[in-house]
Amino acid sequence: MKVLSAMQPSGTLHLGNYFGSMAPNRELQKESDESYFFIVDLHALTTVHDAETLRKNRQSAVRDYIAAGFDPEKSVMFFQSYVPEHSELMWILSTISPMGLFERAVSYKEKIEKGIDATVGLFAYPALMAADILLYDVDIIPVGKDQKQHIEMTRDIAIKFNNIFGETFTVPEPKIQDSVAVVPGVDGQKMSKSYGNTIPLFGDEKSIEKAIMGIVTDSQGKDDPKDPDSCAIYNIHKLFLSDSEASSLADEYKNGLPYGDAKKRLFTTYMDFFSEMRKKHDSLKDSELEAVMEEGAKKARAVAGPKMEVVKKAVGLL
Ligand code: ADP
Repeated sequence: MKVLSAMQPSGTLHLGNYFGSMAPNRELQKESDESYFFIVDLHALTTVHDAETLRKNRQSAVRDYIAAGFDPEKSVMFFQSYVPEHSELMWILSTISPMGLFERAVSYKEKIEKGIDATVGLFAYPALMAADILLYDVDIIPVGKDQKQHIEMTRDIAIKFNNIFGETFTVPEPKIQDSVAVVPGVDGQKMSKSYGNTIPLFGDEKSIEKAIMGIVTDSQGKDDPKDPDSCAIYNIHKLFLSDSEASSLADEYKNGLPYGDAKKRLFTTYMDFFSEMRKKHDSLKDSELEAVMEEGAKKARAVAGPKMEVVKKAVGLL
């Protein structure tokens, strides 16, 4: 099995990112025969126009992912911009991509509604994403439901290219990770950096404690029975537990576990669970991370370079 996944370097990671994306992708990486994992700094340029911020976000993304157990020995890890074939292929794909296909992209419309500038780059994002995928001839792309349309667009572009220029690209299949639970934030809504309701993954201990102690609860009295299923503290805590541990914790809520105690227990569990990852996070040196990215880009170019030759021959550029 060949797997490919990518992430935007968008700042501080939170618990929702960990359980919703990092942990399942890390497990897929372990099971795969060949895997590519890259940080899409070129995509990030559609929204980040500050050099220092982009550099910082990109570097912290590598640190976070390696600390969380992504293994550069097992997977080819790199920055998208270090492999210029991504941009090169994007241009060629854009010359056969129908405007109408892109105009139907939901995520473009959503981003414009959020106030992001309607640039050519933002509109053409799916062409770069298609290039990201098609360069490596992978069969499986693990994505959330929100990315399904982009994979379908990639399939359409690959099929069209193959029809015009002859069989060139593997047509990828999305593997929708819909079994992944939605992690609630401290206010009970979906945890998301845009709602300001996150618990940081690698933040300092004080800010994690503050976020956990601030989880919103209902007004049940200290010793009153609590409903675990509607309680954000419980719904977050159970992510760390086995089914039987979760059910005995649920019984404690029903028997009146005070919310203050429940939060303290969650904080202890949180810090224990991430303790090794946090140590690793702090011990990784910038120079080590840079070396990983350089090495990864070399390995990626060894695949992407020859693929571009095939593409260029197919279209008449070689
Ligand atoms: P945010 O909503 O904070 O902006 P992103 O959109 O950057 O998060 O998400 C990056 C990845 O993390 C995506 O694959 C997304 O599905 C996953 N993710 C984010 N928040 C959650 C959540 N609350 N529960 C489950 N998965 C999440």
